[in-house]
This record gives sequence, C-alpha cells and structure tokens, in this order.
Amino acid sequence: MEGADKNVRSRLMRLPAVDEILKSGEGRGWLSLYPRRYVLKAVRDGLEALRRQIIKGGEPPCDPASVSAGIESLIKEYVAPSLRGAINATGVVLHTNLGRAPLPGAALENVIRIAKGYSNLEYDIAKGQRGKRHAHLRRLITDITGAGDATVVNNNAAAVMLALSTLARGRQVIVSRGELVEIGGSFRIPDVMAQSGAVLMEVGTTNKTHLRDYERAIGPDTALILKVHQSNYRITGFTSEVSVEELVALGARYRLPVMYDLGSGCLFDLRARGIGAEPVVSEVVQTGVDLVTFSGDKLLGGPQAGIAAGKTEVIGKMNENPLARALRIDKMTLAALEAVFFAYADPEKAAGEIPVLRMLLEKPETICERAGRLASATRTGADVSVEVVADSSEAGGGSLPGVKLATFAVSIRSGRLTPNRIEEGLRLGSPPIIARIKEDMLLLDARTIADEEVPAVAARLSELLA
Ligand SMILES: *Cc1c(COP(=O)(O)O)cnc(C)c1O
Repeated sequence: MEGADKNVRSRLMRLPAVDEILKSGEGRGWLSLYPRRYVLKAVRDGLEALRRQIIKGGEPPCDPASVSAGIESLIKEYVAPSLRGAINATGVVLHTNLGRAPLPGAALENVIRIAKGYSNLEYDIAKGQRGKRHAHLRRLITDITGAGDATVVNNNAAAVMLALSTLARGRQVIVSRGELVEIGGSFRIPDVMAQSGAVLMEVGTTNKTHLRDYERAIGPDTALILKVHQSNYRITGFTSEVSVEELVALGARYRLPVMYDLGSGCLFDLRARGIGAEPVVSEVVQTGVDLVTFSGDKLLGGPQAGIAAGKTEVIGKMNENPLARALRIDKMTLAALEAVFFAYADPEKAAGEIPVLRMLLEKPETICERAGRLASATRTGADVSVEVVADSSEAGGGSLPGVKLATFAVSIRSGRLTPNRIEEGLRLGSPPIIARIKEDMLLLDARTIADEEVPAVAARLSELLA
C-alpha cells in the first residue's frame, strides 16, 4: 500500500509545472498564436486531468511530447468557433436547425460592401438629414408584391407580433381553430397573440371553419380578422377553410382589417414548375387583404427576417409602434435582403441564383449525377455497399407541407458499422456532415450537397468505411 502511494507521489512530482510548460519552446509558440487565457486554461486543465488519472492509479503517458500533444488538442478545442459550417446531406432544403437558407453570392457581397464601412442606413443623402432604415427596401418589396407599403423586422414571428400589437392591442382577433399552428422553434399563434396584448377569439373547429363562424364572432371589441398559413401540416379529409377572398369581403362589410400570416411567402411561382400549390405573395396582396407577413429565410431564400407588406396606413402605424424599434433589423440583414429581393425582379435569374430555389428546382437527373459522383469517389472496405438510390426530399421549414420532391441519395450499408455509427462518424467529423437514416440504410441526399462539397463528403466516407 505504502509502495503504491510512493509511486503515485513520485509520478505526480515528475509532472511539469505550469510555468515550465509556458516557458518551453512549445508554450511560447502557443502564446504567440492563441489568447493567453485559453493557453493557460489548457495547460492547467491538461495537467489536472493527468493528476486525476495518476491518483486513481492510472499510468498516463507523461513524457513531454505526450503532455504537449494533450494540451495542444485542448487549446484547439477552446479556441474553435462555436458556430461552424456544416454539410447538409438530409435533403431538407430549409433545415431550421442547420440555418435555413444558404445565401446567394450577391447577398454576401452586399453584406461585405455595407458592413465593412459606414453607410446611409438611416441617412437621407439627398436631403443631408436623418433617414429611415425601412425606406431602403420599400420600393423593391412594393414593386414585387404589389403592396402599397412594406416594412421589415427581425423574423416573421416579430412581424406577426408587431402587426397584432399595432392593430389589436387589448382587443379581439378572430382566428380559425384549424389555423392555431405551432411552428418548430416554439412559435405558437396563441402565445404570440398573448405576448402582443391581443385577445384571441377562436372560431370554428379543427377541421371545419365556415364564413358564418367568423361573422358570428364579430362584436364591438373585434379589431382584426387573422388568417394563418397552416405551414408545417395539412388537415385532410372532411375539411373546410374560408378563403382569404371571402375574409376580405367580410372585413369590408364590417370595416375590419384582414391580415394573412403567410409563413413562407413565395415570390417565385413554384406551381408553374409542378411544385406545390403555393400562391405567390402578389396574388395574395391582390385579394385586397390589408396585411401579409412572411419570412425572409424560408422559400424566399434570404437572411432571417420578417416582411410585412400591406396597405400604406397599416404599415405606417406599424413603423410608429415603439415595439418596431426593438424588432428592427440590422444593416447586414438589410444588405442581404436587398440583394435577394433585387434578384426576384427577374424571376428566371432568381431561380438560378438563389440557392434555395436552385435546390428545390434541380432536375432529378442532375441530382442523380451528383450522387453518382459521390458514390464513385467513395473508397470502402469489402463489407460495405455504396449505392445510388431514388428517394424523396422535402422543402422543410414549414414550407410546402406534404410536397415530396423526387431525389437521389447515396445509400450506405456496412457489415461492420450500424447506420447510427456511420451517422455519428459523419456528424462528428470536420466539417460535420448531417445525414439521415431510413430503415437500415444511411442516406446522403445529393439535393442539398453542393457540388464543391462532394470531395469532402467522399473523403470522410472513405475514412470511416475503409
Ligand atoms: C415559419 C412561420 C412563422 C415564423 O416565422 P420565422 O421567420 O421563423 O419567425 C410564423 N408563421 C407561420 C405561418 C410560419 O410558417
């Protein structure tokens, strides 16, 4: 017993001191490359881990090279950015957890151009006086949507909140029970309504709401009729919902404003390419609805933002609401969004330039060809099968619910590794590759893998499956 204690003590004594490590050639090298606080933390944590192992009776390698290697890997862990790029091999184009829409090049260039210096963010250059930040996007958005005016806030949840607070604070908002949706990331219409100070007046039933249900609910306290896009789900079977046209007519009879939370808000007519049944925003505006709200980073394919487009008077009141100040967008978002809206001035150009549209519209042959390149660049051991298989992918992000897009994926089966192990190996690599599992196959959907990412995915697969 005593001998063992002595052994432990002598091992502990032989560990270098913190100062000694910092003064060594390696220590000085780290200090010249990394912030002192992280080098110091890594040295202390590295030594502490060795001490704990020795006390437990372990014999960790304590030669200088092994000690340094351990510390260096800790430093790298401590200085690595938390926000990292990832490869989306799920096929879900608008993956909220993976950052929704990748931005087009023109948007990135505009962000750099504006963010690296000063700008006329809130400055009217012609008049030489204070200007308004929402003025920059007004013309583009009104041109493209046909609305009288428009304003932009942080996200669509904020746009809905601002609209309800402006139009219905302390008063009633009529909504169909079939539209009281929850969107991933805890956006729930009833909760947003409560936060905005508006009072929810539910009408109809989950599967059926009629115009007379809305009409019966109208009273002296009614401030707004709200329609909400069902976004991420579909009610099928014995159903009926009231169209926006009918609600606009009802609103006109009772002099009540009508708002439509479109969720995704589509500016490119995907129906013309055989995808979904989503009307474009300008069609919705044409119904005479007072206000529509939609996201910047769903089908639009831009940065996180919430766009409110509608009658001049309504938008004017929203801009004057003190809440607008708290929900305002920053110059980087504004720069990105201006470039994205500009792309929509020519829809064909938008389809080619905006990654979200390009991925949604990509021909199955092109996806198949990319999957083929990935499969043939992957080198594996004998007990592994790598095949290109037909499958389907989805838009995601609460957009185009129920729409299946024909796609091709690389399917991996290994005699040695379970699909879960391969999934984990891909996820924990650098960059992380996010794949999906279907039945007992690991699938990498080539729809959302960029051409330039194919070699990195093939290399990582080959490493895991060798
Ligand atoms: C997605 C969605 C929202 C929330 O939009 P964010 O931009 O994510 O804040 C609100 N309403 C509907 C109907 C949606 O689909």
